[in-house]
Amino acid sequence: MGRVLLTEEQIAARVAEIGAQLTADYAGRRPLLVCVLRGAYAFMTDLARAVDLPVEIDFIAVSSYGSATRTSGVVRLVKDLDVEITDRDVVLVEDIVDTGLTLRYLRRSLEARGPASLEVCTLLARESADLDGLGVRYVGFTIPGDFVIGYGLDAAERYRNLRYLAVYEPQD
Ligand code: 5GP
Repeated sequence: MGRVLLTEEQIAARVAEIGAQLTADYAGRRPLLVCVLRGAYAFMTDLARAVDLPVEIDFIAVSSYGSATRTSGVVRLVKDLDVEITDRDVVLVEDIVDTGLTLRYLRRSLEARGPASLEVCTLLARESADLDGLGVRYVGFTIPGDFVIGYGLDAAERYRNLRYLAVYEPQD
């Protein structure tokens, strides 16, 4: 299926660290974790349980047109949040920041609703991504350009249930 990029153990250790960081940074507050479906679902469930605070969760879904392994550049909201985020401390939980297009779109959409704060927490980011420019505060791992699968991330909807992350090497 492909070379293992990050093992279950490596992911778990890093998720625990980010959870501890969020616990410290949001002490005394009640952050709303917003999972970007579908790729961030595995990260979200582990992360939410690694935060020792009364977190709330909600889900948003976007789709970007394109092939199995390439985004086309057009982002569309397919499921909006169920809760109001005005005056809330929002943490957007993403699977991977690649070009940053999805994030830019989501940030614009959520900021327009007047949250008290909006931070971004992504499991993965490309080395090439402009994380400062995109305002990404929490990053699990920085990775090179290979297309990756597992731990929530798919190739044409498969492999999301792998416990680890692998480089996608399709077999003919
Ligand atoms: P961006 O808008 O930052 O270019 O792309 C972000 C989205 O593209 C991610 O949320 C994810 O859905 C998809 N994506 C980008 N790179 C990968 C990858 O290596 N593997 C998978 N499965 N999805 C990716």
